[in-house]
Amino acid sequence: MTVDLSTLTLDQKASLLSGRDFWSTKPIPEAGIPSIVLTDGPHGVRRQAGDADHLGINGSLPSTCFPLAVAVGSSWDPELAARVGAAVGREGRALGVSVILGPGVNIKRSPLCGRNFEYYSEDPYLSGVLGAAHVTGMQHVGVGASVKHFAANNQEHERMRISADIDERTLREIYLPAFERVITEARPATVMCSYNKINGVYASHNHWLLTDVLRRDWGFEGAVVSDWGAVSDRVAGVAAGMDLEMPGSGGATDQQIVDAVRTGVLDEEIVNQSVRRVLKLAELFHDATDDLDVDGHHALARELAADSIVLLKNDDNTLPVRSNSTVAVIGAFATEPRFQGGGSSHIVATRVDAALDAIRDQSWTAGVTVEHAQGFTVDGSGDPKALLEEATLVAGRADVAILFVGLSDRDESEGFDRDTLTLPQNQIDLIGAVAQAAPSTVVVLSNGGVVSLEGWHDQVDAVIEGWLLGQAGGSALSDVLFGHVNPSGHLAESIPVRLEDNPSWLNFPGEQGHVRYGEGVFVGYRYYTTAGVPVRYPFGHGLSYTTFSTDDLSIHAVGDAAVDVSVTVTNSGDRVGKHVVQVYVSAGDTAVRRPARELRGFAKVSLQPGESTIVSLRLDRRAFAYWDVALGQWVVAAGEYRVQVGSDASTIVREQAITLPGDSIVRELTLDSTVGDWFGHPLVGPLLMQGMTANMTEEQAQQAVENPDQLKMVESMPMQQFLAFTQGAIPAEALEQMMQLSKSPAVGA
Ligand code: BGC
Repeated sequence: MTVDLSTLTLDQKASLLSGRDFWSTKPIPEAGIPSIVLTDGPHGVRRQAGDADHLGINGSLPSTCFPLAVAVGSSWDPELAARVGAAVGREGRALGVSVILGPGVNIKRSPLCGRNFEYYSEDPYLSGVLGAAHVTGMQHVGVGASVKHFAANNQEHERMRISADIDERTLREIYLPAFERVITEARPATVMCSYNKINGVYASHNHWLLTDVLRRDWGFEGAVVSDWGAVSDRVAGVAAGMDLEMPGSGGATDQQIVDAVRTGVLDEEIVNQSVRRVLKLAELFHDATDDLDVDGHHALARELAADSIVLLKNDDNTLPVRSNSTVAVIGAFATEPRFQGGGSSHIVATRVDAALDAIRDQSWTAGVTVEHAQGFTVDGSGDPKALLEEATLVAGRADVAILFVGLSDRDESEGFDRDTLTLPQNQIDLIGAVAQAAPSTVVVLSNGGVVSLEGWHDQVDAVIEGWLLGQAGGSALSDVLFGHVNPSGHLAESIPVRLEDNPSWLNFPGEQGHVRYGEGVFVGYRYYTTAGVPVRYPFGHGLSYTTFSTDDLSIHAVGDAAVDVSVTVTNSGDRVGKHVVQVYVSAGDTAVRRPARELRGFAKVSLQPGESTIVSLRLDRRAFAYWDVALGQWVVAAGEYRVQVGSDASTIVREQAITLPGDSIVRELTLDSTVGDWFGHPLVGPLLMQGMTANMTEEQAQQAVENPDQLKMVESMPMQQFLAFTQGAIPAEALEQMMQLSKSPAVGA
């Protein structure tokens, strides 16, 4: 919205930079500036009409609860993410909301993070693609998004003050790229800065993060909003590029901004820039329409949930449920579905489907008889022994027992991290007892973060990972159990054997105000595949009721550092199904240590039985690059790369190698550069060799050239020390000339 800023007073401008209340911005009616509403997000709309809070404690108006990010992550389907975004956006419009907070694209560094249910994946590429699709879908219907929590908010423990201590390569390669993709591809209206510090500086006044990276490197033109209550130093925040403080501060911080300008601490032009960005948000203003498609969106929530379910195990084709069989449905979550997480994203759902009801509804047509036992109570009430005995009895009479187990709101939520991956003991006992009693057993999990499958996995025949599927999750699960929908979800995070195997384990959740990301870029499968650490189920794993084959991988270089990949996928089974082609890149030797492989492309395709299709995708320069800290930029190293198609991160089904010329890296030489750097420099190296051998006898020179091992011994010695040891083997003037020569443009490409 164009407002002539010279018509506004400094006080008015400062007032625009913080909220009016919990959920809205301040209007200036005389200048035609409306107040807009920003509210949670991301998988439904939490529009509070009464008391406000940022933890989802008080009520809100009913809205459809779509599958949560943990489920959307497993869909590996950007179109699905876009449909969630668009539907939530439509509900936001109906409820008069201009900006819906989300999606969250933080990386699941540890499976213990209490808020993993709100995040997509342990992989930045997958998170970024899905997050961008969600934002595009939502903004297409005229509601702004707020991608969050920027940045490095990967735990709940001390989230409001901990310093995430991360080296720059790890930030650039793991914790920032999902944000970068969302910002550059989907242009969200806002970015929400996180509560935590990054390397000692609060995100809310981190100039490097909010201006250098976000605006300068990525070209973000929208507004930065604080997480609710994240502001620690308002004036420093404005200077760093943090535009809108939420919720309001009752005017206290507006006055700080005014004072800072008046005393010359803050440049008024910086305030103006923030004001312009906040005013742009006012263009998203609209009135509530009250036009909520409750039935249509519930049906959509069911369809999307079913496509997010992951079939982890299915021995002897236990699933889908066979016609004319007797099914024992056991477990509290069959009747009291756990379908969303606790905290600020908590939605008051328009309705909720329980799996038991849906299974009963669908059983008629399949001629299936359904029996039910509670098995356990979520709150631990009742007599566990009696519940277990009843469940075993019912299971013993059935052909198959389907157990609905998982985590409750008490086990995981925003605000705290878990300290274990194990299911509650009463549920583990129940699984063991039922598995012994029933001819075959299926476990259906409802959980926001990964749970351990150890201790019971091998006793059961099938396992469905149902995550938190939103309000229609119960019927979606039934759709998959009966085979009306063929499962097509794949893990967006690894399921470890032991918590201790997780690479963040020694450094999670930190101590004394700091959490050190000591595992660097080796997060999740990047670590497991590199170190050869076994997992229960790898990233990317997911079964189907049909089978797929992958053939004819072909790859072609496009220019210097992009590669076109194509592969033929065939549905070799007898049911229609969806398959995810997962493309990984494995880098050879480079200057920095690289993970065994990294996901760089994927595509989900639907195929009829016997149908084949060619899937083509392009791997761009970034698919091969690492962040070079010394140069401060992405570098594609020259050499061989393997392009791998995997059915998961641990199982490569096709691969091909390609050699890329890479970037010609010419690093500036100093006396601190090593002898190896000097000799390896494309311009200086040959000159140096020439100079060194000039004063040698022919025999010595011959030896020096033919015997590189001698050079190897001093290769890592800084030139300064080399000169001292050799009593100035290279004249100072020649050195100076060569250092000047080395200051050529840094990277060729
Ligand atoms: C959460 C945000 C949320 C905000 C508003 C904060 O505590 O971290 O994700 O959007 O509250 O409820």
